[in-house]
Amino acid sequence: MTSFQDFGLGDAITRALAEEKYHTPTPIQAQTIPAVMSGRDVIGIAQTGTGKTAAFALPVLHRLAANPRPPARKSCRILVLSPTRELSGQILDSFRTYGRHLRVRTALAIGGVSMGAQVRALLNGTDVLVATPGRLLDLVKSNALRLSEVECLVLDEADRMLDMGFIHDIRKIVAKLPVQRQTLMFSATMPRAIADLAAHMLHDPVKVAVTPVASTAERVEQRVILVDRPAKLAALMDVLRRETIDRVLIFTRTKHGADKVVRGLTRAGIGAEAIHGNKSQNQRERALAAFRKGEIKTLVATDIAARGIDVDGISHVVNFDLPNVPETYVHRIGRTARAGAEGVAISLCDGEEVAFLRDIEKLIRMTIPASDRRADQRRAKPPLAAAPSTKPAGNAKQRRGKRRRGPERKQTRHSQPNHSQLNHGQPNGSPRGIDSVAFIGSKVRPKGDRAPRAQHWADDLEGL
Ligand code: AMP
Repeated sequence: MTSFQDFGLGDAITRALAEEKYHTPTPIQAQTIPAVMSGRDVIGIAQTGTGKTAAFALPVLHRLAANPRPPARKSCRILVLSPTRELSGQILDSFRTYGRHLRVRTALAIGGVSMGAQVRALLNGTDVLVATPGRLLDLVKSNALRLSEVECLVLDEADRMLDMGFIHDIRKIVAKLPVQRQTLMFSATMPRAIADLAAHMLHDPVKVAVTPVASTAERVEQRVILVDRPAKLAALMDVLRRETIDRVLIFTRTKHGADKVVRGLTRAGIGAEAIHGNKSQNQRERALAAFRKGEIKTLVATDIAARGIDVDGISHVVNFDLPNVPETYVHRIGRTARAGAEGVAISLCDGEEVAFLRDIEKLIRMTIPASDRRADQRRAKPPLAAAPSTKPAGNAKQRRGKRRRGPERKQTRHSQPNHSQLNHGQPNGSPRGIDSVAFIGSKVRPKGDRAPRAQHWADDLEGL
């Protein structure tokens, strides 16, 4: 398929796409849209930033336009679930953009804001409801919503949705849906255990894997700085000063860690904001909007921001802490080099994180170039060469299990952001849209035997 017209999407939709300057479907769109339009269940695997949202939103809108009928009260025809409030908001925006010439009702059900407006929006029913699982269940419990009319369920970031933090909610939700429905799942990564779970929710799915699982965007230049933990903040500041940065997203493992980094940067005169689960929804949205507009150049985030956040012009991602779940690394660095742009990902790795780095390199099948800034390099063990003694006890899975956390969902009040901290840099006007879609990472040297992950992936998909 070389143009959106070839799919047979309605005129109202293709008109909106032309206005958005989408001329050519991306690979995930080319393979997914016809399958969804034919009514099949689909499991779609594609890197972040490759057009996944339109891959499900367009055929879903076509379905609504082709079978117009008023939604029943307190119900929805299409249910889209995503793990974070921000991502849900973005998905809703996409539906509104692509469906702007259609009479389609859309609504958002996310936590952190009052339920009243959401209850009212659902009173007369909606065509498309985009939701995070916790709030959705709250609405169901309070009789503001029935799920018996759902024709199509979409799970975005499906691997995360079926992970420990969400699986109980997802099970409860799926139990309330009609058995006869279409189910679409999308994700950039899909560990085997999760793929097995997904299999129970899909009926004879079309499997679309346009990129090897967990490969990293081609244009992301990846680097590691080996550093002693106490010197991490200084190393971060050094990176921020040396690099030519348009916008940088800094990841920490904990909410407390994110606040600490912001305080350190602020003390050094570098304006930064934090976004994590302890910030109110209002604060999160404001920080993200300021970052999006280029009003702040430095955003410090926990992994709440790692998934799906579509902010153009992020030139750098810095991993202040390395993630203990290797797939998370792929999602994090996917925040840069979106839609054909270039990007740099720099990871600060202390002695305790060397094992995480190994797990990451194993997953992406690459050795990330490292520079060593530890105080005593001679005494320190080589970072990546065969050095089994540096590895914590247990295999990679056990290590992950030990430290893995559920998603951040708790919401507590916090003080409003301090606007004197905001950096008033120029917005980076990088254009939205995809010129070309990048797949397998290539800037970093592949390790020895490089059996493509696609094959391994295809094996996983066979189980579905
Ligand atoms: P997503 O992977 O859904 O987050 O999309 C990444 C970015 O690509 C978004 O900014 C979309 O607006 C844009 N995009 C999606 N599909 C296309 C397309 N076919 N042509 C141009 N831009 C696109």
